[in-house]
Amino acid sequence: MQQPKALIVGSGLGGLSTALRLAHLGYQVQVLEKHHQAGGRLNQLKKDGFTWDVGPSFFSMSYEFDELFDSVGMKNPIDFHELDPLYTVNFAGKRGQYRVYKSLDNLAREFASIEPDFLKKLDTYLAKAKDLFHTTEYPIVKNNFDNPFQFFLQFTKVPIKYVPMLYRSMWDELNRHFKSEEVKIIFSLVAFFLGATPFNTPAVYSLLNYTELKHNGYWNVKGGMYQIVDVMMAELKKRNVDFSFLTEVTEVRSKNGQVVGLRDQHGKIWKADVYVVNSDAAAFRGQVLGRPQFSESRLDQKKWTLAPFTIYLGVNGKIDNLHHHNYFLGEHFKEYADDIFSRQTSPDRPYYYVNVLSKMNDTCAPQGCENLFILCPVPDLRYKSNWDDANALADNILEDLGKRVGFDIGGNILSKTVWTPKDWESKFNLYKGSGLGLAHDLNQIGWFRPKNQDEVFDNLYYVGASTTPGTGLPMVVVSSKLVTERIIKNHQHARTLQPDLQAV
Ligand SMILES: Cc1cc2nc3c(=O)[nH]c(=O)nc-3n(C[C@H](O)[C@H](O)[C@H](O)COP(=O)(O)OP(=O)(O)OC[C@H]3O[C@@H](n4cnc5c(N)ncnc54)[C@H](O)[C@@H]3O)c2cc1C
Repeated sequence: MQQPKALIVGSGLGGLSTALRLAHLGYQVQVLEKHHQAGGRLNQLKKDGFTWDVGPSFFSMSYEFDELFDSVGMKNPIDFHELDPLYTVNFAGKRGQYRVYKSLDNLAREFASIEPDFLKKLDTYLAKAKDLFHTTEYPIVKNNFDNPFQFFLQFTKVPIKYVPMLYRSMWDELNRHFKSEEVKIIFSLVAFFLGATPFNTPAVYSLLNYTELKHNGYWNVKGGMYQIVDVMMAELKKRNVDFSFLTEVTEVRSKNGQVVGLRDQHGKIWKADVYVVNSDAAAFRGQVLGRPQFSESRLDQKKWTLAPFTIYLGVNGKIDNLHHHNYFLGEHFKEYADDIFSRQTSPDRPYYYVNVLSKMNDTCAPQGCENLFILCPVPDLRYKSNWDDANALADNILEDLGKRVGFDIGGNILSKTVWTPKDWESKFNLYKGSGLGLAHDLNQIGWFRPKNQDEVFDNLYYVGASTTPGTGLPMVVVSSKLVTERIIKNHQHARTLQPDLQAV
């Protein structure tokens, strides 16, 4: 039999993981990528002697990477590093600084003066979160659904006592367990990763606190997050996967309900037996396939995660008061959270996250220097499309940071690059610059999320943050597993490659 061919549009983590799984099955795999190098949002910037990870800086559920490598017949070769402390949270004014430890005894000591009986309260809070995580992980998160009934059937397996948690907010849930405003704010920060705020995120998502504090914790990679891409690229090349960079798919050619080719921006036609799109699953359907259900006005009505405003800074000198992962929060948490998604101007007192990779990896900055990655979540381009004030916002953040850590940052800058949501949109085709893709409201998950199999073309599939199950590095790896399972189920050529898959 002739070797079947798979074309993958995009080399984000979703595209690379799918390429690995399909190459292992026996497909001849070709990846087309718009950017000049692989990784998508998990990318790298090198400049002026510094190296930065441009997007993700840590992740949960590290075992999903083990599963990926295991499924393609190898041991996970990436040097993961477990975080403890997980991160540091700096409150504005006199409210102080807290280190959030994975070790719960250390965490209890940290919160001793603000939350009496912390461990007892945490135990009750996390017991529910644990139960929710384990009852939903396989039936709902790691499952392909062929129809809405299958989806609702899985939901009925969630114990009835948790139904009120669908209607209560995460903040209300935290209020039921903790008294300290600081503790509640710290535990509620995970809601922003989902594209919402703790005030409008259902309490069921408290399961994320279980993943960070009790379950698998947070991890990053020795040598920087881009090692994940480097290691995967080396393995894919060994397996003869081809890459074509600076190649953007702009049109899909079809016949009789099948895709017969993809056209790139230069007019070249690329052909395969199956096609997997790692570009945003909702935006691609609208912008490239022209589907009315995903027209710009329909896409604009969906709920999207916050857009990133990022600064990549090379600083002369060592900043002792910064740790590896740091959050800097301002005043008036609720007002800030209520306003941040839809305001039309840059925040005056921004909240931001700072990652200092040089604290753990001395090859990413010249000796005696620090490399800072600063991420400030801002509204997407639907709300704020003009970024002429980018430098003013960057200066505002750097001045605030300098004061809070007691270091003259402005006077010691050796390298500075600023990306606004417009850059994120144009570099990686992120819809209106939304950083994590579609949000995870209950009407945008499972059966209701853009599907990983196309509605019209039998041999067209999707992988990545805006299809099932959702966003974040481990979820995107799960997405590659789900789409591979679909391809095996639907195509005789996939099953013929490995006779033992006939039964799938
Ligand atoms: C600033 C930032 C910080 C983040 N931090 C974290 C974190 O700490 N932890 C975490 O777990 N997650 C984090 N995330 C989320 C995480 O990065 C994403 O969920 C994940 O990387 C998405 O991977 P993907 O494969 O779905 O898509 P992408 O990484 O977006 O890859 C898609 C690829 O497709 C290419 N492409 C798009 N359209 C076309 C086309 N038409 N033709 C050819 N190529 C195309 C793009 O250029 C891109 O390379 C962060 C995201 C951002 C933006």
